[in-house]
Amino acid sequence: MALMTPEQFEESLKDLRPKIFMNGKRVENVLENRNTRTVVEANKASYAWALDPKYKDIMSCYSPLIDDVVNRYTHVSASTDDLVKKAEAGTFTAEMLGTCIYRCVGYDSFHALASTTWEMDRDLGTEYHPKFIEYLKMVQTKDLSVAGALTEPRGRRDQKTLSWPNPFLSLKMVDKNEDGIVVRGAKINISGAYASHELMVLPQAAHFEGEEDYAIAFATPIDAEGITYVCQYSPYSAERDMADSLEELGNPVFGQRETAMIIFDNVFVPWERVFHCGEYPYSIKIVSRYAKTHRMTCGGTCKVGFMNQIIGASKLIQEYKGLENAAHIKDQLMEMVVLRETGRACGMAAATKGIEEPEGSGVYLPDEIMGNVSKLNICNAFWRVMALAGDIGGGLLVTMPSIKELKNPEVKDYVEEFYSFGSDEPTENIMKVHKLLQNWTAGQHGVGTWHGAGPVMAQKIMLQRVIDYEHEKNLVKNTLNLK
Ligand SMILES: Cc1cc2nc3c(=O)[nH]c(=O)nc-3n(C[C@H](O)[C@H](O)[C@H](O)COP(=O)(O)OP(=O)(O)OC[C@H]3O[C@@H](n4cnc5c(N)ncnc54)[C@H](O)[C@@H]3O)c2cc1C
Repeated sequence: MALMTPEQFEESLKDLRPKIFMNGKRVENVLENRNTRTVVEANKASYAWALDPKYKDIMSCYSPLIDDVVNRYTHVSASTDDLVKKAEAGTFTAEMLGTCIYRCVGYDSFHALASTTWEMDRDLGTEYHPKFIEYLKMVQTKDLSVAGALTEPRGRRDQKTLSWPNPFLSLKMVDKNEDGIVVRGAKINISGAYASHELMVLPQAAHFEGEEDYAIAFATPIDAEGITYVCQYSPYSAERDMADSLEELGNPVFGQRETAMIIFDNVFVPWERVFHCGEYPYSIKIVSRYAKTHRMTCGGTCKVGFMNQIIGASKLIQEYKGLENAAHIKDQLMEMVVLRETGRACGMAAATKGIEEPEGSGVYLPDEIMGNVSKLNICNAFWRVMALAGDIGGGLLVTMPSIKELKNPEVKDYVEEFYSFGSDEPTENIMKVHKLLQNWTAGQHGVGTWHGAGPVMAQKIMLQRVIDYEHEKNLVKNTLNLK
């Protein structure tokens, strides 16, 4: 069987030597640094679930490519059933982790590339698709974790790529020879790549003639020569660094959604790992196919899982406070459930209305409209859910002292007495649930959810491209029998 155990996954990371910086210092070991360790734990969990009889149905599947069982996060959907399972896996992993499943961007990139390499070969006579399939077979056979990188620093948003004074604000091919290509530039906001094995790189800013050097997609080991990671660092990172015990934190094991800027300083990529090179009209296809797939994931599946964490914590706090019969709190909880289910419905609709794209490719992608609507809907719904949770949680969500005070002999008894709501629940539990909800409502998840998979305007642009209102106009004309 191709599946690795979680222990084998952790062991396999020891063979990699990514160059990583966080908070101005070199991270010598991703397994030991407290913040990078959260990514290791999240990815590791995906290996455990794929082997767990309780979850293997959702987290693993049969791959005809290698005639074996593989982790679902390495499988390209070949039916709407696969897309539905993909959606269910997104919700499952998100609600179990309370943070990113870092393998989803790679998983969604596989869909975009499987589809578009097939189309390029058909239209242009290139030979990308067999190369991509060979690569995917290698990923499945070795059960590798693959992160995905599309977003770039970019220059002024009102200028075209070639007008930026610095040509490397988008990842650019700077050399091409018989062995492969050399790239220079950076990708930003990239989730969890340093604790994966491989990085799948997609183009972002190649749209027009003359921009061929930006029209590149390839796979690289995460520690290829010339790659450097500059990690995010926030008050939540500092808090994790400073904690006496991880138990003090809102998400002790899996932490925040961790990202990094990835610098490519003349990185060599051999031809067998290059899946798109110069065919700029197909860059936009890769991006839009990736976008709708990832928007189904981010909007209609993973945030549904996150909402379950928020709803669970809000419900517990309602009970600690004896507010079970407060009509407005019941109403707020119900509103959260409705928003969650609306999110789930959009994700499921995107999956069940998915189609083979292009026809004959064998690759199934989510419905264009519903994929984008999934994310557009959740951008606002997630803020609303956090606002409702903030109301139920009360000021304590942002004013609570450290859980360390429960060990401080000078104030321990007072903290236990005055933060218990007079309930039978241990104060430690009450404080931990508040800390979890602080993570969500007063942390990084609002902006993270808004921008991850693109902000609202990005989805509206995609929708405007596919909706022409002809059907709606004709309905009115027919109703009125307009000539
Ligand atoms: C937690 C998190 C995890 C992420 N993980 C990944 C990952 O793993 N891989 C990956 O590739 N990306 C990842 N991203 C990146 C994410 O997809 C981008 O942040 C998102 O697409 C927005 O791009 P940006 O951050 O450059 O913001 P911007 O594009 O700068 O957006 C800021 C504002 O500018 C507006 N704007 C931008 N361009 C234009 C324009 N041309 N005209 C008019 N208005 C414009 C936007 O609509 C928005 O209102 C992640 C982001 C987050 C927050």
